[in-house]
Amino acid sequence: MRGPSRRHLPLFLLACALALPAGGLAASSPSVGAAEAATGPRSGGAEFGQPNGRPSATHPIATTFRIGRHTITEGSAPRLAVRIDQRGVSRVTARVAFRPLKGSGGTAVSIPLGAVRTGRLLHPTWPSGVALKPGRYEVSLHAAGPAGGQLLRRASASGKAPLTVKAKPAPVAPAPAPSTPAPAPATSPAADPGVTADGVFPVAGAHTYGGADARFGSGRTGHEHQGQDVLAAEGTPVLAPLAGTIIARDYQASGAGFYVAMDAVDGRSFFFAHCQQDTFAVTVGQAVAAGQQLCRVGHTGDATGPHLHFEIWIGGWRRDASSHPVDPLAQLQAWDK
Ligand SMILES: [Zn+2]
Repeated sequence: MRGPSRRHLPLFLLACALALPAGGLAASSPSVGAAEAATGPRSGGAEFGQPNGRPSATHPIATTFRIGRHTITEGSAPRLAVRIDQRGVSRVTARVAFRPLKGSGGTAVSIPLGAVRTGRLLHPTWPSGVALKPGRYEVSLHAAGPAGGQLLRRASASGKAPLTVKAKPAPVAPAPAPSTPAPAPATSPAADPGVTADGVFPVAGAHTYGGADARFGSGRTGHEHQGQDVLAAEGTPVLAPLAGTIIARDYQASGAGFYVAMDAVDGRSFFFAHCQQDTFAVTVGQAVAAGQQLCRVGHTGDATGPHLHFEIWIGGWRRDASSHPVDPLAQLQAWDK
């Protein structure tokens, strides 16, 4: 048993891993690849690597959680060592949270590790494009077993570590300005044939369209981004742009988080991901009106900051081989008035 979310993993790797709106961080991989080291005796000695209780069947235990160096320079990645144990469970869903200490100037970042193996020392690779701002952080390991049991730890032992990120020294000479424009996405952007001014913008509040990594077709590990990210405050209502019918409502821990899909009356299908937990306002099969609330903006699943990941599909949402997503930006901008 790997938990309910695993069902969808082969189906779609969504991978927003979007940065915080204010932070200007880039997006990243669907889940952080974990280089697995051989199981062996606990590599001892480090202050945050002490054993922390006995593995139980109901809760994962942080057996090892270490940071290679507790002070790094801006732009370099912290080296993490993680081992989680849970009796009778082979994988748990884990993430590492970097919480800035008050007044230290840092910005919160959450790195999803996806479904990680238990009983092994892992060295998660840092997702490319994600950077920690200078500041002082408390770094904490979070994990949940298939039955939802949360990670056990003691504040003084495994599961937490301090980290200081020092600002990079200013360059001596100004860097030459780049003379070539940023490369376009590798794929030819698929045009949406159904763009219409009628309809409701799906985020009811202040928002931005993020940077290049928020765009349709931007690179993700192993695939491409199939939607447009709309960055907005956690809890902002997510609305149905057009009338239609709800066709899916589910949770994918390693990708979309809490998500909703709908068939719109004009034949297109819409997909809304990373909803805040416990905010579903519709059920599968329900007819919805344009402007009806579906959920609220969150950062569940593979997302490091609150945003709506929005997709438009032609031929149904993952209905058959002819179903395909199109670039939703032009449609979003037409509704964004
Ligand atoms: Zn996205």
